[in-house]
Amino acid sequence: MTTSERVPVLIVGGGVVGLSASLFLARHGVHSLLVERHPGTSILPRARGVNGRTMELLRGVGLETAVRNASAKLGPSVGVYAGTTLVDVLAKRGDGGWLLRRMRKRGVRGQETSRSPTGPCRCTQDELEPVLLEAARQRGVDARFYTELEDFEQDASGVTATLHDRESGERRVVHADYMLAADGARSPVRTKLGVTQSGPGVIAHQLNLYFRADLASLVKGREFSMCLVENREVRGLFASINNTDLWTLHVSYSPETGAEDYPPARCIDLIRAAVGIPDLAVELKGSLPWQSTVRTADGFQHGRVFLGGDAAHVMPPWGGFGANTGIQDAHNLAWKLAAVLDGSAGPALLATYDSERRPVARHVSEIAGSMSDARGLMTIPRGLGVFSVLWQMRRVFPYATMGYGYSSDAVVLEAGAPPGPGTSDLRGRPGTRGPHLWLERNGARISSIDLFGERFVLLAAPDATAWCTAIAIVAEKRGMRIDAVRLGSDVSDPRGRCAKAYGLNTTGACLVRPDGIVAWRSAGSARDPVAALERVFDQILAAPARNSLRESAVSPAAHERL
Ligand SMILES: Cc1cc2nc3c(=O)[nH]c(=O)nc-3n(C[C@H](O)[C@H](O)[C@H](O)COP(=O)(O)OP(=O)(O)OC[C@H]3O[C@@H](n4cnc5c(N)ncnc54)[C@H](O)[C@@H]3O)c2cc1C
Repeated sequence: MTTSERVPVLIVGGGVVGLSASLFLARHGVHSLLVERHPGTSILPRARGVNGRTMELLRGVGLETAVRNASAKLGPSVGVYAGTTLVDVLAKRGDGGWLLRRMRKRGVRGQETSRSPTGPCRCTQDELEPVLLEAARQRGVDARFYTELEDFEQDASGVTATLHDRESGERRVVHADYMLAADGARSPVRTKLGVTQSGPGVIAHQLNLYFRADLASLVKGREFSMCLVENREVRGLFASINNTDLWTLHVSYSPETGAEDYPPARCIDLIRAAVGIPDLAVELKGSLPWQSTVRTADGFQHGRVFLGGDAAHVMPPWGGFGANTGIQDAHNLAWKLAAVLDGSAGPALLATYDSERRPVARHVSEIAGSMSDARGLMTIPRGLGVFSVLWQMRRVFPYATMGYGYSSDAVVLEAGAPPGPGTSDLRGRPGTRGPHLWLERNGARISSIDLFGERFVLLAAPDATAWCTAIAIVAEKRGMRIDAVRLGSDVSDPRGRCAKAYGLNTTGACLVRPDGIVAWRSAGSARDPVAALERVFDQILAAPARNSLRESAVSPAAHERL
């Protein structure tokens, strides 16, 4: 029997990106229906790291502690090595020297830095996804597992999708205003839309062997992240999961013979040869064939359908970009969908999802691709150890810690080179993430970036009364809720550095988007701040004000203060 329902947003795919999207939408008050064809969340660890920028986004939805708790059992893992077998490498390298000892001690987990109130967290996808799912359901997301998108059509008024409940066999028609395809690298939605992809393509075919083997005593004090091994029997890359008894080994296979050529007994032999212990007790928990590929979809928006995560871009896992970039896509799209759905923005705002995220995806895919060797494994030169890896990772760090710069119509750009994917200076320039500084509100320490997330925020310098009055007028005209935060009154800035960090003098202000990206700033005051802000919103939201405000509706006192 076919029944029918209506939702604002349909999310296809209950992986890490679909689940994050549902949470970010919920934060903006947008109800979503999420469908996932599998009965549950990922059973394989896959991505092992949540980078610093993603942790900021998860902090924004109140999940920083939950994610760190979920990751607690994984322990620190920071060495990247290469050699003939794991036993041989660990014997030769010992604990990796003072730098790795220090990094292990600090745990590399959630250390705040001068740039961020949080830090990266080692959390595998099978641990992360249940946290996201539970939080999503608590926030009212309708997440239906074992439910598949079978087909869809779109027209000017929305998307009509046919869902198949794989348990009951029931089919249901759903009408959605918008649909997000977070349906993974093979993306049936992308295929149906006929979206082409660009990029170098498949680098190699890989098998991800997930196994249990008690190596705790071998590894203790020498916990590592990755180890490339090569000997006569095997060439593969270990990625540690908990550094005691759970591991993955990536090996390449030939597409001619196929992954079927790797029955469990052969996989176990390869694992033993890679570890260097011929009679090691190994339990093979999973064997996942995947293609190490660099490809980006040619267009992330197709009418009312958006591609996000692996559906939009695939890249090798080196650098830890895949899941993180996808979560960051979802964050970029969520506030825009919310603004269009509630009528505060015009549909053209949605085009900036593509113009902001596609360059980032292309750029990080390129970096991840360049970290692969010809057989699709991470290039790890022997001998040079941690320093060569740090040298290679230098291109990764800016993205991992602060994200990226955007140039689009949703930003009022300043003179000079426009911010782009590689922009790493955080000085309040429009198109970049607002800088982090510790402030105080009601006696509690908060980061400046904690001020952002739900709606637009006008961050005003201590004497910027005129901007604060003007934003109230503009908010009323547009029928929007916009926060005004004046430094020194609404929040205290104990070290007095915040205005300067955002490039403001004592009468200046900047407007920060709900995703924490600075949209516009004025270093000082303006002759007509209302007109200036109106122009800013007209551009950013691709829509003129909804309410034409009669002069009488604005309090005379407000005008006097301007
Ligand atoms: C071995 C390996 C190691 C990795 N390591 C890292 C790492 O260290 N760091 C990192 O950031 N990334 C890493 N990645 C990449 C990361 O796993 C992916 O980028 C991430 O899973 C993408 O998430 P996603 O939600 O876009 O897609 P997926 O996780 O693939 O989820 C898509 C979901 O959509 C569902 N689906 C598909 N079609 C339908 C349909 N018609 N109806 C309903 N549901 C549907 C699928 O069942 C699937 O659950 C790694 C990947 C692999 C394979």
